[in-house]
Amino acid sequence: MLIDSHCHLDDFEDLPSVLARARAAGVGKLLAIGIGNGPDTMHRALDLAHLHPDIFATAGIHPQEAHRATPEALARLATLAADPRCLAIGEIGLDYYHLDNPDISTQQAAFIAQLQIAATAHKPITIHCRTSELATACAKARYEPADAWEDLLSLIHQHWTPTGLPGIMHCFSGNQDQAARSLAAGFYLSFAGNVTYPRSTTIQAVAATTPANRILIETDAPFLAPIPLRGQTNEPAYVAHTARFVASLRGISSDDLAAITTSNFNALFPASQSAP
Ligand SMILES: [Zn+2]
Repeated sequence: MLIDSHCHLDDFEDLPSVLARARAAGVGKLLAIGIGNGPDTMHRALDLAHLHPDIFATAGIHPQEAHRATPEALARLATLAADPRCLAIGEIGLDYYHLDNPDISTQQAAFIAQLQIAATAHKPITIHCRTSELATACAKARYEPADAWEDLLSLIHQHWTPTGLPGIMHCFSGNQDQAARSLAAGFYLSFAGNVTYPRSTTIQAVAATTPANRILIETDAPFLAPIPLRGQTNEPAYVAHTARFVASLRGISSDDLAAITTSNFNALFPASQSAP
């Protein structure tokens, strides 16, 4: 069985067909990310999780929506977080890539507030971290010298590590040092379709060497379709391509990669085996 550890299902027009193709590709569980189009719609993934036994959900306020993390929105998130089919809070984190993102201080305040909600609910977090490395010159000028990874890891150290709870670095796109520090903080590294792209040599090196008990795979659908489907609308069935690619990087069979990533997901989210 394969598990898609991170997908956005809100906007698929024909979800029953998408889910049927996922099942046919061997995908037995999906973690639908509940960021909606902002806090007003962050419940939509959970709505799906209540309709489909193989879908579980998260809820959270994406860093690009951090300016909308009002006390009311955070209170709604705390309510969603308590739902047994809500496995994690996220995706949350820092995004120093887009010129029009909320200020760094606004992003960090929303992140810290959501870490507290996750800690209260005793749920893991799923992290979005995007640096200004490949951003436009204007965006780079706005964020530098701030470093999203340094800021993220320091906030985690301060506000999350003391909880003893784990988390996921979603669509891991950092380097070996950031991977090592994430692993040391108790995080799983989840690899998306971009690991298959020819220029992703750093990500590939990390995916090849991540400890077997800490690796996950995901689509991040509808974004980042893996090769050979790059450029198409990504969907959960395509996680099979990422699995095959990561398995070959690690010199193991696709079946073995599926088995270890599935067992990791189940270890991280025991509720996904027993939830009502
Ligand atoms: Zn995502």
